[in-house]
Amino acid sequence: MSQHFLLSAAARTLSVLEVAGLSDDAAFALFKRLRWGDREEVGCPHCGLVHKHYFRPARQIWRCAGCGEDFSVTSGTIFAFHKLPLRVYLVATILFANAVKGLSALQMARDLGVQHKTAYVLLHKLREALDSARDDSPLAGDVHVDGAYVGGSVRPENRKADRVDRRLTENQNPNKRCILVMRENPTPEERKDGFRGAKRTLAMVIEKETQAAMAILAPRFIVPGSTVSADESDAYDPLHAKYDMRRVNHSREYRAEDGTTNNQAESYFSRFRRMHFGQIHKLAPKYLDRYAHEVAYREDTRGWANGRIFLDIVGKCAHALTSRDWCGYWQGNKRLGECLAA
Ligand SMILES: [Zn+2]
Repeated sequence: MSQHFLLSAAARTLSVLEVAGLSDDAAFALFKRLRWGDREEVGCPHCGLVHKHYFRPARQIWRCAGCGEDFSVTSGTIFAFHKLPLRVYLVATILFANAVKGLSALQMARDLGVQHKTAYVLLHKLREALDSARDDSPLAGDVHVDGAYVGGSVRPENRKADRVDRRLTENQNPNKRCILVMRENPTPEERKDGFRGAKRTLAMVIEKETQAAMAILAPRFIVPGSTVSADESDAYDPLHAKYDMRRVNHSREYRAEDGTTNNQAESYFSRFRRMHFGQIHKLAPKYLDRYAHEVAYREDTRGWANGRIFLDIVGKCAHALTSRDWCGYWQGNKRLGECLAA
């Protein structure tokens, strides 16, 4: 039997030690290259002029030849107005890339020697950068779909006489949400090339797994005529009209007689639950979409070497605009509500 990819040397191409050992100049050069390439011309984030702007090496900033404003390598990116050395953000990114089951802010705070508040915002900025580059175009071919509930548990009272029927709507946790996941499988030819997992994953937060939600979301995110595998939930019944539906009844079996499974969706939720119970613990509806997307990214990159994931995330940070939700978070700039897909 061949060695599992994650055990091979090809899976670990970068270590935390290497990133932590980068000089300030090397960290600057890496971020600059991922943002603007190897050219001397850089783009001014204030006016957009791409030019060989006047560079002041002592402060490592440019003065724009067009508008005269100063900017740094992180101005206008997700790391704008950063207070720690750039290298610390790169170390945070390799820790985040290596933590395939997610990473809690408390653990990140200890690893970096920063406050929990700092680590919390930093992690959310990384999630926002991942989100900004997300491909939301519709899936096609062979798609696995499923929903799972998060945040629904209600702690039972100590005495049995005081306990309520937790199945009733009025006794349920108001923070209960459903994560809906859709995953496109590789074709048989692509699978022969050693392709692992699904090709692309879309994850979204909805209130309930219902026919009404599916009527909106399936046509938006799955090309009509695709093969869709789902479980026995009646939410997916209306999809029979537009898709080649395969069903597996999980109360009876995990794999139907015709070979149908929705194991890609189960794989996603397996990772999500491990992140939730093992790392994050507390998931409020307000940012649940960000965690759902993070797990989608981790599932889609599970066959990548860690150095490639690191460069991909840093590249996304370099191209993501200054955070709407997280820049000045502790000064009161917060997202107002949650993001529901339907
Ligand atoms: Zn300018």
